[in-house]
Amino acid sequence: MKTSGTDERIKIAVQKSGRLTEHSMDLLTRCGLSYSRGKDRLICYGENMPIDVLLVRDDDIPSLVQEDVCDLGIVGLNIIEECSLAMRADGETRLFERVTSLDFGQCRLSFAVPRGTPYQHPDSLAGKRIATSYPRIVAAHLAQHGLDAKVVVFSGAVEIAPSLGRADMICDLVSSGETLKAHDLQEVATVLESRAALIRTPIELGPEKLQWMQRLLQRIEGVLQVKESKYIMLHAPRAALKEITALLPGSEAPTIMTLEGTEDKVAVHAVCRENVFWETLEQLKEAGASSMLVLPVEKMLS
Ligand code: ATP
Ligand code: ZN
Repeated sequence: MKTSGTDERIKIAVQKSGRLTEHSMDLLTRCGLSYSRGKDRLICYGENMPIDVLLVRDDDIPSLVQEDVCDLGIVGLNIIEECSLAMRADGETRLFERVTSLDFGQCRLSFAVPRGTPYQHPDSLAGKRIATSYPRIVAAHLAQHGLDAKVVVFSGAVEIAPSLGRADMICDLVSSGETLKAHDLQEVATVLESRAALIRTPIELGPEKLQWMQRLLQRIEGVLQVKESKYIMLHAPRAALKEITALLPGSEAPTIMTLEGTEDKVAVHAVCRENVFWETLEQLKEAGASSMLVLPVEKMLS
């Protein structure tokens, strides 16, 4: 197996300027990375870890990881899927793997038609001209339904294609739906639910680099878990302990402590791996819990 060159620094490809940029850099900062930006503003050099960030167009991220220019990349599933299909069509072996989904960049790749157009999915796709920046995903979707249609490739501003007379409908990324509305388009079916993901090269790394890679991946997992997690403390009647611990969302074995001077009450401390909502607290109170405190978790390492 090919091993990564002499460069012992980990390189991560991140979108230079766009919807994923701030979230991606924030994730790395939360992992403890501090960096300085190079003069050309295309590379951020890690100051306290051997990790550098390459700032590039999001569309280039899978190839950079594929070609081992970067060890990791943060990019939307939409791009990963389109890229994987293109590689398969070209007979190339995909050389990157998805490590984990991230908690930002949520959107969906959907079909949309001019408002008021009658549409029945998927049959109405037949014979249409569909404008999209995701020709492979759309073609795969058509093939899956055994339908024929003309895919018109647009690299941007897909939503103007119908009004220009270049297409009958579009297939594009949607999050709030405001852009579609502004162009008098109506979302009719979703092809792919997307969010940002972390991809990595499967190429073997040198021992030192591997150690940093494992450390970084572990910290990323920790950051993702922390965002959802809460530390909960409460007092509970001993008799209601079973019912109360069952109500704690996503918690593993809680710590039970005796309360000085009481026989029938205990203190319960637990990490909940899901958010704790008011409704849960109300249910806990009904079950007999009192003095409830919910605290955010700052860092977590399992
Ligand atoms: P680049 O210059 O890097 O090519 P871009 O215009 O292709 O930028 P953005 O619009 O910044 O990219 O979107 C980057 C990614 O953000 C998308 O590939 C997708 O995964 C995600 N995303 C989330 N919501 C949306 C949305 N409403 N529209 C487009 N992309 C979205
Ligand atoms: Zn792009």
